[in-house]
Amino acid sequence: MTTLLTPERVTLSRLHAPTLQTIPDAVAENLRRVRAATTARIMAVVKADGYGHGAVTVARAAVDAGADWLGVTDVAEAVALRDAGLTVPILSWLNPSGVDAAAAAEHRVDIAVGSIEELRQLIADAADPVRVHLQLDTGMARGGSPLEEWPELLRLARTGRGRVEVVGVMGHLPRADEADPAANAAAVLRLRQGRDAVLRAGFGPVLVHLAATSGALTDPATHFDLVRVGAGLVGVDPSETTVLAGASRWTAPVVHSALVPAGTAVGYGGAHTTDRETHLSVVGVGYADGIPRELAAGAGVEIAGTRHPIVGRVSMDQIVVDTGAVLFPRGAVATVFGPEGGAVPSVQEWARWAGSIPHTIVTGIGARVQRSVA
Ligand SMILES: *Cc1c(COP(=O)(O)O)cnc(C)c1O
Repeated sequence: MTTLLTPERVTLSRLHAPTLQTIPDAVAENLRRVRAATTARIMAVVKADGYGHGAVTVARAAVDAGADWLGVTDVAEAVALRDAGLTVPILSWLNPSGVDAAAAAEHRVDIAVGSIEELRQLIADAADPVRVHLQLDTGMARGGSPLEEWPELLRLARTGRGRVEVVGVMGHLPRADEADPAANAAAVLRLRQGRDAVLRAGFGPVLVHLAATSGALTDPATHFDLVRVGAGLVGVDPSETTVLAGASRWTAPVVHSALVPAGTAVGYGGAHTTDRETHLSVVGVGYADGIPRELAAGAGVEIAGTRHPIVGRVSMDQIVVDTGAVLFPRGAVATVFGPEGGAVPSVQEWARWAGSIPHTIVTGIGARVQRSVA
């Protein structure tokens, strides 16, 4: 009962290296779907190397499709986008390595500032004026100035005029994935209070922004002047209200296959034992490449149009799949995830199998997985 896959369907001579292919057309389509949900400007957030999809690739696709801004988490990421020829405004927040004020001024990178210490440092470091977005804590306790410290932050910003120029006010929504506008109401109110205080303090027009993907797709009251969309560009809607296009495909080769008898222990610890004679294929990606080690039953990969279950423990560099009656030769290509649906798993399915969120799947893919662009 063995079916040998016909050799002409696979490349036997040269293995297809594990590859993550980014699909720019899907990024563009997702940008258009966000555009349909808002009249605000759209910032394409490409932190964490564009959520693992390649920051420059995602940024170009988004800007070509109409994104007005780019968002990153440090100045070096922003400079890489400038070096790639992207000219739209860029905002950098978090800045875990500190802010290179000269680079920010030279490359026109706006900086989010969420505390008095950060603002003091920037004023001290800035020779040429740096554009600043004041960041208010809108209910997350994860960065941003509390409203109580806002007056002092504004006083300091006034004294720093000429070195820092306040051009924006931002917050972040802690509960937008609930897709319930009531969950955002307190944050919206607080951001309005923060904005009004900035205007009363005599700063010029400011760009006000609060929403990420979920808020952009589900709650217009959060949109203000600009929405910051990251996950949505690569096909992930944390609110699970909008169908978006998967923007990548992860493929890897079968490196070894065998026919094994019933009762065969598979992988470390013999965590799985075959219950019948079957074929096993070893696929050359493991937890070092970003395959989650803890997987719920039902996890699998697609080979030649059929989903095959992963059996036994995930190893550092490989997984084993049970292909039943079919013997796949070395060189057959497995799809770990992709946008096709059906037998091809989605990133969302992987997140469920891992007990996680899609973001951790796409940002966790290792460096030795080659990158390509469709
Ligand atoms: C990551 C991030 C975003 C984008 O969030 P998504 O849910 O991925 O769209 C927006 N704003 C801030 C401050 C972020 O850190």
